[in-house]
Amino acid sequence: MSTTVSATADLTATERARILAKSALFDPPTAGLPDGRRDLVGMSRAELGQELAAIGEAPFRVKQLWHWIYHQGVTDFARMSSIARPLQEKLADRFVVGRPEAVTVQTSEDDTRKFLFRFRDGQEAETVYIPDREEDRGAVCLSSQVGCTLSCRFCHTGTQTLVRNLGAAEIVGQFMAARDSYGEWPSPKGETPRLLSTIVLMGMGEPLYNYENIAKAMRIVMDNEGIGLSRRRITLSTSGVVPMMDRVGEELGVNLAVSLHAVTDELRDELVPLNRKYPIREVIAACRRYPAASNARRITFEYIMLKGINDSEAEARALVRLIAGLPAKVNLIPFNPWPGSRYEPSTRAAVERFAKIVNDAGFSAPVRTPRGRDILAACGQLRTESRRERRLA
Ligand code: SAH
Ligand code: SF4
Repeated sequence: MSTTVSATADLTATERARILAKSALFDPPTAGLPDGRRDLVGMSRAELGQELAAIGEAPFRVKQLWHWIYHQGVTDFARMSSIARPLQEKLADRFVVGRPEAVTVQTSEDDTRKFLFRFRDGQEAETVYIPDREEDRGAVCLSSQVGCTLSCRFCHTGTQTLVRNLGAAEIVGQFMAARDSYGEWPSPKGETPRLLSTIVLMGMGEPLYNYENIAKAMRIVMDNEGIGLSRRRITLSTSGVVPMMDRVGEELGVNLAVSLHAVTDELRDELVPLNRKYPIREVIAACRRYPAASNARRITFEYIMLKGINDSEAEARALVRLIAGLPAKVNLIPFNPWPGSRYEPSTRAAVERFAKIVNDAGFSAPVRTPRGRDILAACGQLRTESRRERRLA
């Protein structure tokens, strides 16, 4: 028995190493500008310390810079008033505090705002801010990749082949640039309300195929002396990259959302092709192991409602059996169409019947209100024109 367990553990470790090695092939170009200056955004505290040491500056400067960059949101060294002018100039000669360039900003009739960001090498990704309609708070939906290697049948991003991973600077940068757009600096402290109050890693791409950059970015965002967003306010959504799910739980402790969408392997193989590698029972087992899950912080199962495909009452009952005993909730997502999509959204009656069965079994089953559909900003509608260069193709 124990040999079987350790053999499984070895397999998982090997598989994880393989995933990380493959992700690294799609890493972004280095953070340098053409003029040789480097971007301080996206560096860990340790890296920032190394950069400063290399120009003969003391370690305490890390704390100072961190405060200006992530708490105050300042991008101009000349405005860092606790730093003397000569050092400001020295820093400005060598570094920048960067932001991705907002190529377009569209605001929906429901106030959802979509940003098309262009990064230094010209690649583009989308970010969406979804304000709460009743209260002064909202979720920022960040992209993790330009395109996606997976090709879920209902997802617009899935029609764009993976161009590359986004770097930590580009992931944090999406959030910071969205905050710029609402002028929300300095970072609100403690219980002070925030307009941009939660992060959902649900934009373009599969975050667990870009784990190192996502983890680094989330550590920066969670750092208390800067942006200071708690791990409870961050949700990572995965299509079910099982070997990496354990690491997220152990190392980041953020909330987990799993794109389930089907209750049989036969159907999930078709809708979420990754299921052929990590079938439903393995995904659910990884959820049962997920350390951060408790009743207070349940795992979210995302279930897209496709008319006549996965929305029957029998499937609702099977879903409930599948997740029995897990601290979980089910987010029912009306299908958002995009140009060329082949599915139809379930009828309201079908969604309500489905929700009732899940609810009666003791799981909360909110139906996600589509937001920003008029500007193609809703779930699964994001896509950019970026293409893979020959070098990577
Ligand atoms: N790659 C990750 C995160 C990005 S997708 C994942 O798949 O979980 C974020 C969510 O949007 C997923 O639950 C996905 O299934 C959902 N989604 C994709 N296409 C959609 C569409 N056309 N309509 C509604 N939701 C969609
Ligand atoms: Fe990629 Fe998620 Fe879209 Fe699937 S649903 S293609 S994993 S972004």
